[in-house]
Amino acid sequence: VRSSVFRCGRLLSTSSRCRTVMPAWVIDKYGSNEVLRFTKNASFPIISYPNELIIKVFAAGLNPIDVAMRGGYGAATWSMKRDPLNIKQTGSEFPLILGRDVSGVIMECGLDVKYFRERDEVWAAIPPWKQGSLAEFVVLSANEVSHKPKSLSHVEAAAIPYVAATAWSALVNTGGLRKDNCANKRILILGGSGGVGTFAVQMVKSWGAHVTVTCSQNAERFVRGLGADHVVDYTAGPVEELLSVLEKFDLILDNVGGDTEHWALKLLKPWSGAKYITLVTPFLQNTDRLGVADGMMQTAATVATKTFKHLMKGVHYRWGFFAPSGPVLDEIRDMVDAKQVRAVVEETFSFSQVPQAFEKVEKGHNRGKTVVQIS
Ligand code: NDP
Repeated sequence: VRSSVFRCGRLLSTSSRCRTVMPAWVIDKYGSNEVLRFTKNASFPIISYPNELIIKVFAAGLNPIDVAMRGGYGAATWSMKRDPLNIKQTGSEFPLILGRDVSGVIMECGLDVKYFRERDEVWAAIPPWKQGSLAEFVVLSANEVSHKPKSLSHVEAAAIPYVAATAWSALVNTGGLRKDNCANKRILILGGSGGVGTFAVQMVKSWGAHVTVTCSQNAERFVRGLGADHVVDYTAGPVEELLSVLEKFDLILDNVGGDTEHWALKLLKPWSGAKYITLVTPFLQNTDRLGVADGMMQTAATVATKTFKHLMKGVHYRWGFFAPSGPVLDEIRDMVDAKQVRAVVEETFSFSQVPQAFEKVEKGHNRGKTVVQIS
């Protein structure tokens, strides 16, 4: 529980007060991999609010959103989050540091930080509107941070927060799943071999669900090793036909998108509260294309129309989103330390190899996570 009190006595220690710059990979404009630039002179993070803390980064996880953000994805929405009054000039987000997962050690605590102290080992999923973890230090709010699992190395720990927080937000907050209501539920995970899929499979399996997964044939053994009960190779023929002969499902998590929503909702048990949740939504494209206000209106109209259409057929249509949360990571830490879920690190890169790590994630066909070891 987050009730134990420890007040860090200082806003900044002498050692960090002296630092004004740090090594980091930054981008100065949106584009392809060439925009990634290493610098030893990135701004050292500053504690601006008393509930913030500075983490020395030991390992950083990469996600497809880092590749997308490198190209400008979500820029309109994140700009609004960073600068709600629209005071700053266009491009004020640069130099921008990517990297959404961090595992490291707390260096400094703001005056109101009660649950953490210096030298605590922590992990976090970093909201996309904040500076990321491909740097020596990162500043976050204490409520986004959690003590890291003791049983994992920093590299392993950095493979979990962003995908786990996304899977939790989609399956628990949106899907209504809990550890005590999953027994015998039939769950279908479309795209089970990537970052979110490998975590989601383990999570619902540990809660007693029956888990069916779609993936490429060469990932079948891999996802079975994570607990999948039934695996469907989507490259073996029309996947909707292969799935339609199976008993219907209570919940579908869609990590694939595209045309899946045209057929997947027919696989749900109708009039039973069954839900389809997709992580692949047009929300950020809409705000990038139309601006924040019109994009949000368009998004609301689209989701309302689809929700109503499917409700008439007795199934629930939902969009799932990443949500940063230290308390959720506390729960996931306990699952990790209890060996109910594990980190799936596909490949590790050194800090000097960040562009290669981006290339790896961008190529797709991911089998778990790509992690950068920072120090
Ligand atoms: P990854 O790239 O790690 O994994 C995607 C996986 O899907 C790969 O293993 C790929 O392997 C597999 N795949 C591709 N096509 C299919 C298919 N037709 N059927 C089954 N499997 C397929 O991505 P993540 O797991 O990190 O993210 C999944 C999706 O969720 C992404 O689109 C991401 O942008 C989105 N997302 C959305 C969030 C939100 O807030 N809404 C948050 C996090 C992620 P192979 O090609 O070899 O089959």
